Amino acid sequence: MRATVMHGAGDVRIETVPDAHLVERTDALVTVTRAAICGSDLWPYKSMEPSETGRRMGHEFIGVVEDIGTDVQTIKAGDLVLSPFVWSDGTCLFCREGLQTSCLHGGRYGDDGVDGGQGQAVRVPQADGTLLLLPVGKEDALMPSLLTLTDVMATGHHAALAAEVGPGRSVAVVGDGAVGLCGVIAARRLGAERIIILGRHPDRIAVAKDFGATDVVSERGDEAVERVRELTDGLGAQSVLECVGLEQSTVTALSVVRPGGAVGRVGVPQGESIPEGVTTFFDNVTIAGGPAPARAYLEELLPDVLEGRIEPGRVFDRVTNLDGVPDGYRAMNDREAIKVMIEP
Ligand SMILES: [Zn+2]
Repeated sequence: MRATVMHGAGDVRIETVPDAHLVERTDALVTVTRAAICGSDLWPYKSMEPSETGRRMGHEFIGVVEDIGTDVQTIKAGDLVLSPFVWSDGTCLFCREGLQTSCLHGGRYGDDGVDGGQGQAVRVPQADGTLLLLPVGKEDALMPSLLTLTDVMATGHHAALAAEVGPGRSVAVVGDGAVGLCGVIAARRLGAERIIILGRHPDRIAVAKDFGATDVVSERGDEAVERVRELTDGLGAQSVLECVGLEQSTVTALSVVRPGGAVGRVGVPQGESIPEGVTTFFDNVTIAGGPAPARAYLEELLPDVLEGRIEPGRVFDRVTNLDGVPDGYRAMNDREAIKVMIEP
């Protein structure tokens, strides 16, 4: 079968790899019908050391179940299913707490003999705990929005929960990528009154406004902090969603939060330490977040997509087949595209 393999920074190839096949009795074999390139795929795209064997890519996908292991009970061949960006058993201590990203028997796609999502098929471990059955056809018009539930929409929701967004709260969203835009949807959905997006790309800002952003701050650094304060009676925002992970964006996020407020961090940190430690200590700021346990949020978010209350699929502004995936990485890295959907 054909799949995406990264061999180093800027070096993404479509290669013939061994066909996906069942290994464990808890596996499902899924033919991919939609996949996506993630902002986090761009980190290795910028920095990966050259590798002869390369690394299988992709962790956001929807597909049709072809076959199941003998222990799989909740899905069957022919089902259309969605996978969150990690696989998990659904039964261990952490899964039962809704923290499937820390599953004791879980793992990541593209590692340890598990296929990546950006290919023709995937062996899904722990299929019962991982996969969500979709009650639509595989070519349903909602496919782009459903695909965001695998990662970016769930991650935006996680950021909003970690930032304690609720009715009437003032919210600042740092980052205008797909996760930041989904963070705007999540903040609106949870009842936020004022939603300030920090970003500067006109096409992304337009989407953010459609999603419910009430104010736009296009400045950077200290000027951005000042602008957010002006918009919040000089106090700062009660809830801040950090959706980038860079040092500068983290400093900004931790500088625009008001005393007693909360910052939800979902941008994968590119530095070891958390800045503004002393200020946020004396301001009693809550700093929370991490990788979103997307599996825990699917049952809550799915009806909103199916019934059209949210339309996160608008973050996809480019569609390609497998052959176009390398150029899709380039386009996202050059910020030509917000997010690329793959129809293998
Ligand atoms: Zn588990």
